[in-house]
Amino acid sequence: MTAVEIRQQFLQFFESKGHKIVPSAPMVVQNDPTLMFTNAGMNQFKDYFLGNKEAQVKRIADTQKCLRVSGKHNDLEEVGLDTYHHTMFEMLGNWSFGDYFKKDAINWAWELLTEVYKLPKDRLYATVFGGDESESLEKDNEAFDLWSAHLPADRVLDGSKKDNFWEMGDTGPCGPCSELHIDLRDEAEIAKVPGREMVNMGHPQVVEIWNLVFIQFNRVSDGSLKSLPAKHVDTGMGFERLVMALQGKKSNYDTDVFQPMIAVLSEKAGVAYGDDEKTDIAMRVISDHIRAISFAIADGQLPSNVKAGYVIRRILRRAVRYGYTFLKFNEPFLHTLVPVLSDQFAGVFPELVGQKDFIAKVIFEEETSFLRTLDKGLKRIEVIKQSLKGKEISGAVAFELYDTYGFPLDLTALIARENGLTVDEAGFQTEMQQQKDRSKKSSKVSTGDWVEVKQEEELGFIGYDNLEAVAQVVKYREIEDKGSKLFQLVLDNTPFYAESGGQVGDKGMLMSGDQKIKVLDTKKENDLIIHFVSELPKDPTLPLQAKVDIYKRQLTENNHSATHLLHAALRQVLGTHVQQKGSLVSPDVLRFDFSHFAKMTDEEIREVEAITNKKIRENIALNERRNVPIAEAKQLGAMALFGEKYGEFVRVITFDPHYSVELCGGTHVRATGQIGFLKIVSESSVAAGVRRIEAVTADKAESLVIEQDMLMNEMKELLKNPKDMAKAVAQLLEEKQTLTKELEGYRLKASQGVKQDLLKEVKAIDAISLLVAEVALPDADSLKKLAYELRNELSSLAMVLAANIDGKPQVAVMFDDSLVEKFGLNAGLLVRDLAREIQGGGGGQPFFATAGGKDINGLPKVVEKANDLLAKALNLSSLA
Ligand code: ATP
Ligand code: MG
Repeated sequence: MTAVEIRQQFLQFFESKGHKIVPSAPMVVQNDPTLMFTNAGMNQFKDYFLGNKEAQVKRIADTQKCLRVSGKHNDLEEVGLDTYHHTMFEMLGNWSFGDYFKKDAINWAWELLTEVYKLPKDRLYATVFGGDESESLEKDNEAFDLWSAHLPADRVLDGSKKDNFWEMGDTGPCGPCSELHIDLRDEAEIAKVPGREMVNMGHPQVVEIWNLVFIQFNRVSDGSLKSLPAKHVDTGMGFERLVMALQGKKSNYDTDVFQPMIAVLSEKAGVAYGDDEKTDIAMRVISDHIRAISFAIADGQLPSNVKAGYVIRRILRRAVRYGYTFLKFNEPFLHTLVPVLSDQFAGVFPELVGQKDFIAKVIFEEETSFLRTLDKGLKRIEVIKQSLKGKEISGAVAFELYDTYGFPLDLTALIARENGLTVDEAGFQTEMQQQKDRSKKSSKVSTGDWVEVKQEEELGFIGYDNLEAVAQVVKYREIEDKGSKLFQLVLDNTPFYAESGGQVGDKGMLMSGDQKIKVLDTKKENDLIIHFVSELPKDPTLPLQAKVDIYKRQLTENNHSATHLLHAALRQVLGTHVQQKGSLVSPDVLRFDFSHFAKMTDEEIREVEAITNKKIRENIALNERRNVPIAEAKQLGAMALFGEKYGEFVRVITFDPHYSVELCGGTHVRATGQIGFLKIVSESSVAAGVRRIEAVTADKAESLVIEQDMLMNEMKELLKNPKDMAKAVAQLLEEKQTLTKELEGYRLKASQGVKQDLLKEVKAIDAISLLVAEVALPDADSLKKLAYELRNELSSLAMVLAANIDGKPQVAVMFDDSLVEKFGLNAGLLVRDLAREIQGGGGGQPFFATAGGKDINGLPKVVEKANDLLAKALNLSSLA
C-alpha cells in the first residue's frame, strides 16, 4: 500500500464513523504567545478544549503538519540519528468534542489498525495510565478493560504519569492517555526478548504509533485537578511510522515517503544509501529537514535571526552542514530538492506546488550565505588552532563558534578531532545554560488564573459595525510583564479590534460608572479577544461602556484598505508572482512585504503609486462579505493570506471585483476616497526574495508632501527663484567645481613661490642643508607637500618651518634619514618641544612631524628655539 493510499484510508475510515474531514492548519502558528509551530493535531482545536469556543462539529479527523523543534517537544537533535523521529511529520488524528469517549475511541483505533490496515494483532501493545498517588489518581481501569477485549492482559501495560498522562501545559485541559506500540523486529529477536519488555525503551523497531488522549480534567494554577463537564477525545498517530509498519520496513526512511528524496541525494553525492552509517545519517537529516524548511516557508515563516525564523534557519543550517561535511556538497544543493518534494505532496498539501519557485529561491539564498559563514568559521578555527596553548578548545570559544557562526557543538568537536584537538564540552554547556537563563529572564511573563465574573456564551467582536458598545466583563486576570503589573480583560462583546493579520489592536476607553479605564492594547490569544488595561473596574460585575479611539481606528483603516489597493497595483505592475509575505498596518504607516526578486525601479514605484491613487480617487465602495464558504471565496479569485487560521467560512473584502479581492479579517474604509492619497516612502529588501514597501496615506501623506514642498520653496528662495530648479543646482555645482580647480592652481603657484624663496634661505654647513624659517601658506596640506618636496630636492636636509596657515600656527619638522641615523634625531620629539611656543602639541615619525597650536605670535620664538636646538643636536660649528 502506498503512503498516499494509507493517508486516504485513515480519512475515509473516520469519515465513515461520522467525522468531518478538515484541512491541516498551517504549521506556523499565529496569534498564540505560547506556541511558535503546530506540534500536535490538537493545537488548532485548543479553544474547544479550553471552553473558549463551542465546537460546531463534534467529530473531526484530519492529517496535520507538525513540527517538533522547539519548546515542550523538541526532537531536533535525534532526527536523522534515529529512524523514527522527524522534525516535520504528519499527525493523523480523530477528535470528539464532548461526544464519544474512551469506548469508541479505543474500539475504532483497533478496528482501523487490525481490520482495515490488517496489522498483525500479535505485534501490538497498548499502554494505559497506571495511576498516580501524588495526584490521588487511580489507574485508568476503563481503558484497561476496553483494551483487554482485544488483547491478552499481558499486552496491556501500565504506564507512568510521564508517559500516560497528557497535559497541554502547566495549566489547562489534561487527562490519561493510552498509547499503541508496535513491535517490528524479526522473529528471532522477539524470541530472545519479548516485546512487552521493549515498549517505551527507545528501540527503533518497537515504537509508539498512536496516542489516544482522554481529556477529562482541567489543571488550575494552584496545581489541582478539576473534573471537566464535557469530556473529549484527542488522538494522534504518526503517519510516517504507520507507513513503515504497513510497508514492512524497519525505518521510516525506507518507506516511499522518504525514498524518492534519498534516491536524489544518493545520486548527487555518488554514495549509495546503506553504504556507511555516516553518509546514511546525512541523507536522513537532509531528506527530513528539507520538508520542515519548505513547509515552514510555504506557511509564511522565512528563515531569519529571531524567534520562529531563527528556528527554521537553524534547521536549514543543520541540513547544509551534514551535506557539506559528509556528502561533500560544497555548493548550494538543498534548493534543488524542492521540486521533488512539491511533486510528492501535490494532491495533499497544495501550498508547496503554488510557491515552489519562491521556496527554492529563499533556500538558495540562505544556503549560499551559510556556506560562506561555514567557510569563515572554518578559517576562524584555523586561527584558534594557531593560538591554542594546549590541545583543548575552551567552552567559551566553542560557544562563540556556535553563537556567531552557527557551528553546533558536534561540528566543532568533529573538526577539532580531525585536527587532533578536543573540546571542553562541559564548559560549552555552561555557557549555553547561561545564555538560556539570560533570555529566560528577559522574556518572563507570568500570568495568574482567570477570574470568572460572568458565564457568557457569545464572546464576539462587533467592531466591524460598532465603535462603541455596552459590555460586561466575562473574566479577567493579572499579568506581570518584566516587572510591571497589568490586567487582561475579556468582554462579552467588544468593538475593540484585536491585533491580527498585521493590523494593530485598537486603543480606547472603558467607562465603568465615573471610572475611566484606558485600553492600552487589544490582542488575541487563540480566539479570545484580550483587552490590556492598567486597572480593573472597581466593580467588575457592572456593565461598562466600551469606546474605541475613533481617530486612530480611522487612520488604521485608511492604511489597511490602502494595503489592499497597493497589493493589487503591485501585481499589475510587477506580475502575479507578487504575494503578500507580511504586513503591518498602524495609524501612522503601512508596511507591506511581498515576494519579488529585484529592487523596484523608480518608474515601477511611480506606476504603483499612480494606479493606487487612481483607485483611491475612483472612491470605490467597500464590498464586505462575511461568512463566505472558502470554496466560494476562492472562486471569486480571493487572494488568500498565509498563516491565518480560517474556519470553514471566511470574510471577503472587495474593492472592485476586477481589481482587489482578498480574504481579510481587518477593518476597512467604507469607500476608497477616504484614504485621500498614498505616498510610498521607501522600498527595500527584507530577506531573500522579499521586498518591503513603506507608505503613508491621508493626513500623513499630506503632511509629507507639504514638508517637501516647504523645503523646496526654501531652496528656491536661497537660489533666488530660478525658473528651473534642477538646472540651477546643476549650474551651481558646475561653478563650484571650476572655482575649486582655479583655487588649487593659485595655491600651487603660491606655494611654489614660497618654495623658491625658501631655497634661497637654505644654509649649507658641514655638508648639512639647514633650513629654519617662517612661512605663510593657505592650508596644512601645502605645508606637508612643501616639506616633502624640499627633502627630495636638498641633500641632508634639517628643516623647521614655522607656518602661518590662514591665521593658525603650525610647525613642521623634516630630517633626512641619514641625519636621523647619524645624530639620533627625532622630529616627533623636537616638534613637541617647539609646539610649546605656540601653545600646542603634535607628533609624528622620527623623520617628519607636525604640530598645531593656538598662539600665532609664538612663531618667531619657534624659529629662534629651533635654530638653537638644531645647532646643538647637529654639533654645528657655527650658524653664521
Ligand atoms: P515518542 O515518545 O516516540 O517521541 P511522543 O510521546 O512524543 O512519541 P505524542 O506526543 O504522543 O508522541 O505524538 C503522537 C504520535 O505522533 C506518536 O505516537 C508518534 O507516532 C508520532 N510522533 C511523535 N513525535 C514524532 C516525531 N518527532 N516524528 C514522527 N512522528 C512522531
Ligand atoms: Mg516525543
